[in-house]
Formats: sequence, C-alpha cells, structure tokens
Amino acid sequence: MDFRTGNGYDVHALAAGLPMWLGGVRIPSENGFVAHSDGDVAIHALCDALLGALALGDIGHLFPDTSDEWKGIDSKILLTKVMELVHGKGYRLGNADITIALQRPKLAPHIQAMRETLASIMDVPADRVSVKATTTEHLGFVGRGEGCEVWANVLIVSNNP
Ligand code: MG
Repeated sequence: MDFRTGNGYDVHALAAGLPMWLGGVRIPSENGFVAHSDGDVAIHALCDALLGALALGDIGHLFPDTSDEWKGIDSKILLTKVMELVHGKGYRLGNADITIALQRPKLAPHIQAMRETLASIMDVPADRVSVKATTTEHLGFVGRGEGCEVWANVLIVSNNP
C-alpha cells in the first residue's frame, strides 16, 4: 500500500481586537491572530503537513502573503485548495493529528467543532481528525499570551495501491 506522511508547523502573533479563527471555527476571545489571511494557524499547519506529504512545498509558496488575492482570506478556502491537490494526486486523507499550544482562552469547548469542520473539508469522518490543545504553563511566548503555536501530522493514502 502506498502511503505518505507529512508534518506542518506554524505560529501567529496575537493582538487585541482581532477575530480569532482556529481549526475553521470562530473562537470567542478578546485577541485574534495577526496575519495576511484570517490567521487560522491550525489550518495553516495542517495545510503544510498535507503539502509536505506530497513534497509540494508550503502554503507560503502556494498562497504568497504579497498577493492581494489571499488578503484576509478564509483559511478554509486554502485547505479546500490543498485538498484538491491531494485528491488530484490520487491520495485521500488517512488521518490528521493537530496539537495547538495556546495559553488562553481554553479551547476544550471548541475541539469537537474544529474536528467536524476540518473533517468535512477533507472529506473524511471526524474520527480521522484529532485536535488537541495545551497551554505551556505560562512559559515562553505562548505562555505570555503573545502567540499561538501549532503542529500537525497527517497520513495520506493512495487510491491506486
Ligand atoms: Mg500562517
């Protein structure tokens, strides 16, 4: 069986008064992510993991932040486009595992919505998409509330074994 793995990593800074999007879900918060797109750092890490599995570069290469085309864009659209590439190469998602490091707000109430949102875009059941959240116990830039860090791993499986 032909399968591939990929990993992705992304960081965005937090600033007051911006909307917070994570895993395709709007999170109630006084802070949001500074970005060219909507700043959904979880989707960005996930996209990079999918692109990495196929050695197709990264989202900065695919959707340059110098282009007005992607300014303020809903990151769910970026994930949709990345999945079109994955499907176009004859692969489907096996599973995805995402870890979000954020000091606050607490993400537990939103994890299930993120899993369902991401799974629906990637055309798999939600039990193939794991989203985990942790604080950093007030250590480092995440712990000081300056930003959010996300790691994503994926397995993709060929439709033509
Ligand atoms: Mg990003």
